[in-house]
Amino acid sequence: MNGNMMHLPLTIPSLLAFAASRHRDTEVVSCHSGGRHRRSYGEVWGRVNRLAKALLELGVRRGDRVGTIAYNDSRHFELYYAVPSIGAVCHTINPRLDPENLRYVVAHADDRLLFVDARLLDAVLGALPDYPLQRLIALEDAAQPARPATLRYEDLLTAQSDAALNIAIGEEEASGLCYTSGTTGRPKGVLYSHRSTVLFALAMCSANSTAVSALDAVLPAVPMFHVNAWGMPHAAPMAGAKLVLPGADLSGRHLATLFNEEQVSLAIGVPTIWNGLLEHLGGSGDRLPAGIRLGVGGSALPRKMIDAFEGMHGATMIHGWGMTETSPTGAAGIAHHASRALPVEDLRTLRETQGHALWGIDLRLVDDDSGEVAADGKTAGHLQVRGHWVANAYFNEPQHDAFRDGWFDTGDIATIDERGFLTLTDRAKDIIKSGGEWISSVALENIAQTHPAITEAAVIAVPHPKWQERPLLIAVRAQSSEITEAELLGHFDDKVPSWWRPDAVMFATALPRNGNGKVIKSQLRERFAAEPILQRSIVDSTGGWFREDYPDQQIWATG
Ligand code: AMP
Repeated sequence: MNGNMMHLPLTIPSLLAFAASRHRDTEVVSCHSGGRHRRSYGEVWGRVNRLAKALLELGVRRGDRVGTIAYNDSRHFELYYAVPSIGAVCHTINPRLDPENLRYVVAHADDRLLFVDARLLDAVLGALPDYPLQRLIALEDAAQPARPATLRYEDLLTAQSDAALNIAIGEEEASGLCYTSGTTGRPKGVLYSHRSTVLFALAMCSANSTAVSALDAVLPAVPMFHVNAWGMPHAAPMAGAKLVLPGADLSGRHLATLFNEEQVSLAIGVPTIWNGLLEHLGGSGDRLPAGIRLGVGGSALPRKMIDAFEGMHGATMIHGWGMTETSPTGAAGIAHHASRALPVEDLRTLRETQGHALWGIDLRLVDDDSGEVAADGKTAGHLQVRGHWVANAYFNEPQHDAFRDGWFDTGDIATIDERGFLTLTDRAKDIIKSGGEWISSVALENIAQTHPAITEAAVIAVPHPKWQERPLLIAVRAQSSEITEAELLGHFDDKVPSWWRPDAVMFATALPRNGNGKVIKSQLRERFAAEPILQRSIVDSTGGWFREDYPDQQIWATG
């Protein structure tokens, strides 16, 4: 017997329609074209309706993909709503993609139109010489000089009216497309639906995650081209929160200014962004708004960062785990009722974990033979996930090994403790297998980063004749530090079993990172795998790498 309840489709336009009606005067603040612009949700809704009509006039039909190559600003936000409001799919593209991958994703998605930030237009035209000019729209203001042949965003809107179209949309229809960052292999497309997006936004409003509410001013410092800026452009209108879009400048200085002037209460970003903010706060003496919450994910949250933000700046860190395939957040958390009485040090230790699975998400750990392993906080396994906002296939690539038996294999290695807290120990491809045993590169990186003389660290496996693989630490020294390899290796004493200790340290001036701030370990492995690390000194042609001079026999001394 069915219940007697109404069934209304969960659709993306309904989020902004709600904000425009119930939080009409709440602001969307946007940094673009050299200024800071404010519009109310009511005004933005009118512009979205104008844009939707312009899209129809340009021939966009249900299911068509519309590409965006843009930063976090109000025009991008309007595209987030106008495109799915007519049943089309908003394909957000990373502006930092190299030309070959840009050509690949635009061709694979078969983008009907491309909306491009005016600053990126020349680069895009260079990378896509065959893309028809009449299908390119420059995101620029009416005040800016028109470019020949490309359409201008503001001109499209001027020609239309504010009235809503109210096109009926099914909740299972596709709404957004985002390609994985692809540090190895071709990018793979994840096709979100209206329903998955709305349910995920609801999860971001839960107090167990980022707790977005009408009391908040939310600043996504994670790009809108990466997994829908972790749902904030959807959660903010759903909650009636003020939205602050920082544009392309994610520097610590700019973020601190916006935080204070716009009274931001929740901001989300990857650790690299928060590192920049910490450096700025340290150098300038600027302060953060009281009680600000900082969401962080994408890579591990270093303990030093938790101590600095919570201990010195009065912020609360919310650490989450997720992937493009999981919309992205699958786990997040602050603490449990049972942990409320814990001393602050222990609470911060809890924050180092990737948190607790959210409602709507199931997590499990399996071994190499797909047998489930114990959630005892010690046994590591391949992390698999299923849930309402988890992909069940890649776009136009129905066969992929990662999707099997109703679960998605994340490629992450993790433990889950008895209370349900998730700890990522590695990427499956990054784990170090020494004599058949697993060594967690993440655990070693975290230890290296607790040393005050080290700002960044990455650990990779390098081939070893006896042990198959051994860990190599690549570290970036803090300014003016002269820490030696032996001193840094000494820092591991008593923190890990002796056979976990890295065999050698290379000091670098920076770590290679992809457009989303993740360390590109494949590049490090390429750089060092074939490298005779027994050699005394290495300086590559860019001058980027150098190593300590130490006796050869010291290398491979362990294990
Ligand atoms: P992406 O699809 O580009 O967002 O990358 C997803 C991957 O980032 C995950 O599979 C993890 O390996 C990594 N990741 C995400 N969140 C965290 C986190 N909090 N700590 C460590 N790694 C993370």
